[in-house]
Amino acid sequence: MRKEKTPVRVGSVVVGGNAPVSVQAMTKTDTRDFEATLAQICSLVKEGAEIIRVAIPDEESCRVLRRLKREVEVPLVADVHFAPKLGFKALEAGADKIRVNPGNIGGKNALLELAKEARRRGAAIRIGVNSGSVEREILARHGRPSAEAMVESALGHVRFLEDHGVDGIVISLKSSSAWETVRAYRLIHEKTSWPLHVGVTEAGPGLSGVVKSAAGIGTLLAEGIGDTVRVSLSAPPEEEVKVARDILQSLELRTFGPDVIACPTCSRCQVQDLPDVAIRVKKALEGVREPLKVAVMGCPVNGPGEAREADVGIACGREGGILFRRGEARGRVKREEMVEALLALCREEIEARRRGDAR
Ligand code: SF4
Repeated sequence: MRKEKTPVRVGSVVVGGNAPVSVQAMTKTDTRDFEATLAQICSLVKEGAEIIRVAIPDEESCRVLRRLKREVEVPLVADVHFAPKLGFKALEAGADKIRVNPGNIGGKNALLELAKEARRRGAAIRIGVNSGSVEREILARHGRPSAEAMVESALGHVRFLEDHGVDGIVISLKSSSAWETVRAYRLIHEKTSWPLHVGVTEAGPGLSGVVKSAAGIGTLLAEGIGDTVRVSLSAPPEEEVKVARDILQSLELRTFGPDVIACPTCSRCQVQDLPDVAIRVKKALEGVREPLKVAVMGCPVNGPGEAREADVGIACGREGGILFRRGEARGRVKREEMVEALLALCREEIEARRRGDAR
């Protein structure tokens, strides 16, 4: 059960309260390149990103941010480091939220002034503490940038802002260790009512980055911790959005589209290229938003049961497969016709749902 946090508005999206856990992304283009950044934002929105952060390294980026704000509806977050002046300019350009690392923004007063300006303009502020930016005296007390040290650092800044009447805060505590991340968020979850932006930072490339993110973010979400999610991988940002969505959908917190289940194959498998069949089906269903469950099963052991349970399924045998829709057998198909026949049934199911005929 998710413990409700104080709702914070980021443009048109609410983070916290009883809002669904939102998917965030960050652009990887040079922000100063307007065309490239706009194209990437559009691509991320298409993929399912609901809040998008852009790095603001200089004044030219602020000018581009203003142009981007005119072109897109998705809330934009300005990521500002070292120069509070850029934060002011980004807010003036229309940023819906400002992300600051309090360890590098030029001291407490600079942080407070920027936070006040954000609130004056109706923008939210994210206090994003990284394990690498914990203050020296806190580090000295804890010996290392542990979860406890990150929490102490973040809470110190948040309490300071609260004491000066600042609200609209979102907190993140990022470590590249999934386990330290989990410990840190568990601790801070108990101590604050502000919504939490969760993620494992710099999770790395390929499968190991995906697994690390899923382990860290998934553990937290399963415990009801986290109001908005960003996956950070050494990969195109669209991949990050896909992974974030898959984590949320796996935990049944959100549904973004079809869930394709497929047997892992074993010596009983009667279709040599079953993984390929499953991949082709999944790819063909990309872009579909209806939450149908599709089963691609390789033999008569678990196949018919799983295929029957799913909205649409196929249980393969030596010569082909038996199709199912909503638990009813819908005939046999030859091997070479399996993918198309299964997709035709998926389309039938999607049409039925669009007409309001849900299972
Ligand atoms: S469904 Fe059949 S082929 Fe697939 S893993 Fe299970 S027993 Fe093996």
